[in-house]
Amino acid sequence: MKRGRLDVEVSGQRVVLVGRIDDSVTLGELAAQLPAGALVLDTAGVTFVNSIGMREWIRLTRALAARGAPVTLERVADVMMTQMNLIPELRKTVQIASFHAQYACPSCGAEATPLIDAVAHRAELRSLLPPLVPCDECASLMALADFPERYLMIFSD
Ligand SMILES: [Zn+2]
Repeated sequence: MKRGRLDVEVSGQRVVLVGRIDDSVTLGELAAQLPAGALVLDTAGVTFVNSIGMREWIRLTRALAARGAPVTLERVADVMMTQMNLIPELRKTVQIASFHAQYACPSCGAEATPLIDAVAHRAELRSLLPPLVPCDECASLMALADFPERYLMIFSD
């Protein structure tokens, strides 16, 4: 389905969102069109989200939470993570399994947005400690290139 500048692709219990979540998008009533039961939302293909888009995203997560079935977010886009961390209610309504974040290598200066496994690193993330990730260029350890709170607040209690 097409929602403004966002493509919504449903296969089984997996929902893949690709594009922009902006003022062209309405997501409130999307929940009613998604399959019943536990869902996985994949937003790795989301390239932009603004405050109006975020409001729609919250409408969607609220509507899904109201159905009572678990909602897991996989491969959350970097742009989604920094926005979602500003909204305390999302700590309760969604579970994040993995996400992308901006990393930089202190040795060679390379930049990347690696996928972080939030299940394997749950304990560190709850303490606002971003895991170190090997650099693709030089194999040194890369560090988060931003304040940990901007990505990890959503994992704290
Ligand atoms: Zn490097």
